[in-house]
Amino acid sequence: MTPRTVTVRVPAKVNTQLSVGPARPDGFHDLANVFLAVALHDTVTVTPADDLRITCTGPDAAQVPLDRTNLAARAAELLAARHGIEPRVHIHIDKDIPVAGGMAGGSADAAGALLACDALWGTGASQSQLLDICAELGSDVPFSLVGGAALGTGRGERLTPLEVGGTFHWVFAVADGGLSTPAVYREFDRLTPDAPEPAAAPALLDALRTGDAKALAATLTNDLQAPALSLRPSLAETLAAGTAAGALAALVSGSGPTTAFLCADAEAAHQVAAALTASGTCRAARATTSPAPGATVLTD
Ligand code: ATP
Repeated sequence: MTPRTVTVRVPAKVNTQLSVGPARPDGFHDLANVFLAVALHDTVTVTPADDLRITCTGPDAAQVPLDRTNLAARAAELLAARHGIEPRVHIHIDKDIPVAGGMAGGSADAAGALLACDALWGTGASQSQLLDICAELGSDVPFSLVGGAALGTGRGERLTPLEVGGTFHWVFAVADGGLSTPAVYREFDRLTPDAPEPAAAPALLDALRTGDAKALAATLTNDLQAPALSLRPSLAETLAAGTAAGALAALVSGSGPTTAFLCADAEAAHQVAAALTASGTCRAARATTSPAPGATVLTD
């Protein structure tokens, strides 16, 4: 029987390595993008409706487009078109992932809506068909579907799963306002005219495999950090506040402006989150863990 409502939970991500190559003729950049899913989630619920409709709740809901530009709506439309049906569905997003924060929130919603609509409509798409649609929707969407940890090459959409040998503890400091990902890439191009071809760092992959937080802290890199700081210099104060509070490493998350702090354990993460909140250098600080599973159906 076709289910009447399907709810999917989908995680945010942090990039433990984001190496960016030169701009390609199509405007995208080749990446060596080591994704790690973190346990901050959006929840996407789909229900049959007369027409495609989006609603959103959560602290950043006002910044989420409710028209067909919403990536979750595009995911539903694309899946429906592939199966010759109309996307008659109400998609509700309960948003906990910061918007425009470099944590792939929109990508998460797209992967969540895709999996939820597939279950609602009984379209029975295979994992590789879902991944194809994800890649069409955006470079980060395939990873939101699979979660865990993975190396993304090409523009980040060609995934190789990675082993993770333990739980890592993180704090994410949410900034006021977002940063536009295309603007951060343009600033990267301006600052880095001779970017080398990107490659995954073996020491970082080892640190993930062994679950060694200190080794991971020593190998975290983000080529978008310098351009994000150039566009938003005040992020340096947030990074310094987290480091002073005992984080093993501090970095901009993806294209920012969220900043990420790797901590030794849950207790350290709690202290770093409290210090960041008290520092006044961010809007909110959230302690969480990784890895987290990818898009997961909760109910149907
Ligand atoms: P990434 O880390 O993949 O670069 P991000 O986390 O920085 O992305 P998103 O939260 O995905 O950024 O939002 C970027 C922009 O996409 C928003 O400003 C918004 O206009 C648009 N958008 C479209 N769909 C969504 C969605 N479901 N949730 C949030 N933003 C969305």
